[in-house]
Amino acid sequence: MNPALTDVIEYRKSGLSVNHVVGCPLDCGYCVRHLFDNFGLKTPRALMSDQEAFYLLVNHPSFLRDVTPLQIFNRATDPMLASVKPHTFAMLELLDNAGLRNHVLVITRWRVDADDCDRLNSFANIRLTLLVTHSGITDPRIEPVDSGIASNSLRTAYEQAERFRAVFYWRPLVPGLNDTDRHLAEAMELTRFAHATVYTGLFYRDQIRAYYQAHGLPEPYGDTARRKILPGGLEQRVLAAAASRTGGSPLFRKTSCGVAYAHGMADYNGHYGIRELCDICPSAQVDRCSRAWARPDPAPVAAAVAGLGGELVAVTERAVMVKGLDEQRRYLLQHTHGYQVHDVAKPHHRNRHGRADLGWTTTESETSPC
Ligand code: SF4
Repeated sequence: MNPALTDVIEYRKSGLSVNHVVGCPLDCGYCVRHLFDNFGLKTPRALMSDQEAFYLLVNHPSFLRDVTPLQIFNRATDPMLASVKPHTFAMLELLDNAGLRNHVLVITRWRVDADDCDRLNSFANIRLTLLVTHSGITDPRIEPVDSGIASNSLRTAYEQAERFRAVFYWRPLVPGLNDTDRHLAEAMELTRFAHATVYTGLFYRDQIRAYYQAHGLPEPYGDTARRKILPGGLEQRVLAAAASRTGGSPLFRKTSCGVAYAHGMADYNGHYGIRELCDICPSAQVDRCSRAWARPDPAPVAAAVAGLGGELVAVTERAVMVKGLDEQRRYLLQHTHGYQVHDVAKPHHRNRHGRADLGWTTTESETSPC
């Protein structure tokens, strides 16, 4: 097993993530499990007890009670698989019984039934969001799991949700695969069964490309990228489809934006500073985020960055620019300050929404970094 998998706590953009169960039989060709060399591990197995994982999570140096967003099983398995679900509910119970008010994200593409929703509704403290991944991809070589399973789960979750929130996690959008007008219309219908909808493109990294090539799958892009790829033209069609529908939940480009909106809270990643991200957001939510967002003073930020081993470059109106900090340490700062933290060596370009350059022209984006 890749040694990275035995490090069960990882700080990811949407939160501190616990992954003490590894293995998944669902075989999505684009799965991030390729990045951890564990795509061949089909049977979920626990690396430690739920109690031990809980202890590691809440004692992690980056964990802040009621502040740090948390995620359960979003790297190496699906949390709603029959053999994983007991671990998922046990972890939720441990977090809730500790009286924590943190956001907790559970991302699934598998079956969610009414009994599951009863359990999800039973937690009194955590701010729980169930994100149901649905792509509409029908090529079984790329996504063997019927998308109908996810759409049924989303409908059930939305209809049963009382204390938790249900998000339609529409991804990965891939040109030529699931971007026909019919696909977009089906997705628009699904937006009616969610408190928020979050859409994005495909992670097409070297390891995923190698899998596509080894299995003779049609390659969606001629190149790979560090960030997710969503071409500008497809983004425009998604927004046009959303603008012409009647009803349905609002669309968001970022996970934390959709999660925050679903709970009536401001975005915890400080995306409000990247002003163009908010041009599709409901005005009441924009007001909420604007009230919560504040440019931090450089001196304490510089001290915090130095304490983590990096160097502050600047605090701009959009982001704290640093060098020498990896993603995990940048996310800690970002969630602590509610302000974007970017690596000066990996510039974000205006109007590209934090995505890869692939599929964008210079008329769709400006090239100046944030
Ligand atoms: S106002 Fe901007 S930052 Fe806040 S939720 Fe909407 S898109 Fe995200």
